[in-house]
Amino acid sequence: MVRRQLAARDIKDRRVLAAMASVPRECFVPPHLRDQAYADSPLPVGHDQTISQPYIVALMTQEAGLDRHARVLDVGTGTGYQAAILAKIAHHVWTIERIAELAHAAEARLANLGVRNVTSLVGDGAMGHPEAAPYDAIVVAAAAPEPPTALLEQLAVQGRLVIPLGDRALQELTVVERTATGFHHHMAGACRFVPLVSSEAFS
Ligand code: SAH
Repeated sequence: MVRRQLAARDIKDRRVLAAMASVPRECFVPPHLRDQAYADSPLPVGHDQTISQPYIVALMTQEAGLDRHARVLDVGTGTGYQAAILAKIAHHVWTIERIAELAHAAEARLANLGVRNVTSLVGDGAMGHPEAAPYDAIVVAAAAPEPPTALLEQLAVQGRLVIPLGDRALQELTVVERTATGFHHHMAGACRFVPLVSSEAFS
């Protein structure tokens, strides 16, 4: 997976490649799909949700520009896979999921794998988690029409928000970097995510 799907494309950050090599993805997919855990595609995980394609997880992590001191907010915990990858590189990850059942399953899975630097939360991630802000990176695994204001506010200066922006069908992976004077955007490719369900995004 790392060689063919990531390094052969544009994932060059060695910390990202190492994290993707060390987290056992099969622990995050439903038992009947385990033989497809390393396939080059997203997989269904129940509740109409998916675990993202490995390449997209790696790309979002690379675009987040993390170092080992980074404080990260992960919106849309799902299975907890993205949180586990972020936690390999960053200092601490706060992860928020709106479906309590998914959040609790992810929390148990991360604990079983011995991941200690992730805090699991249930709630509307479009509102962020102001208690632990500001964040050096905010990674959103669900699509929004525009960047939620709360997430921009909770970004540190020089912090990066990585979020799919567009309509329900198709989005552009967007990186918003906060500078001392404002926000700069760049695009990192077309993508397709489930909607961010919130009064601040898709209701
Ligand atoms: N990062 C996940 C994949 C997430 S799929 C993984 O690695 O497995 C997107 C997730 O976002 C879904 O679980 C969905 O329930 C959640 N979600 C959607 N809207 C949300 C919101 N407003 N706040 C928190 N989570 C949300």
